[in-house]
Amino acid sequence: MEEKIREMENYAKEHNVPIIERDSITFIMKFIKANGVKEILEIGSAIGYSGILMASVDPDIKLTTIERDEERYMECLKNVKDVDMQDRINVVYQDALEVNLKGVSYDLIFIDAAKGQYTKFFEKYKYFLKPGGVIVTDNLKFHGHVGHRDMISSRNLKQLVGKIENYIDFLKNNDEFETKFYDVGDGLSVSIRKNDL
Ligand code: SAH
Ligand code: MG
Repeated sequence: MEEKIREMENYAKEHNVPIIERDSITFIMKFIKANGVKEILEIGSAIGYSGILMASVDPDIKLTTIERDEERYMECLKNVKDVDMQDRINVVYQDALEVNLKGVSYDLIFIDAAKGQYTKFFEKYKYFLKPGGVIVTDNLKFHGHVGHRDMISSRNLKQLVGKIENYIDFLKNNDEFETKFYDVGDGLSVSIRKNDL
């Protein structure tokens, strides 16, 4: 397992796949363990790095993960088989905004796909949380750009960072969820569902 994780880290580096930082996944794994999380949904699998690590916390954990890029999806499938988790990890090859989940709910939803669409993912998938469930979001600092939009010259990057800033405001002003922000890795949030939606 450790060796496979190293191999995935190397693959990510070589192929420019933006996998989660070590500190952040360690933080999430601790949260999963401390809260007895068993059913997980991940938006943005990439090559399966964070998904496999989350599932590795406990053999009873089941994880569904969604990826729209074919090459990454294929690589993810291969990695899931290599660690023998194909019975617990369900990899869905589709755009997460088009996926139709039916009659399932999760203890934890991890949002880590297109950063400009975080609010859309949140609004779509919050209905698939169990009461007391949480939504965890990665990359809220976006490599230190968030909160420093004036320093950015690229128009596209500026726009993207603006969307992440809007998402942070959306979380802060959300009455249905209580959100805590953590300065770990590239910035994480944990949003706990309060009331019935
Ligand atoms: N969670 C992974 C990294 C994910 S990188 C890890 O830490 O190991 C973000 C991934 O989300 C990319 O592979 C990208 O193809 C995918 N993605 C972006 N928008 C998406 C969407 N709308 N639906 C499904 N996948 C998406
Ligand atoms: Mg990420």
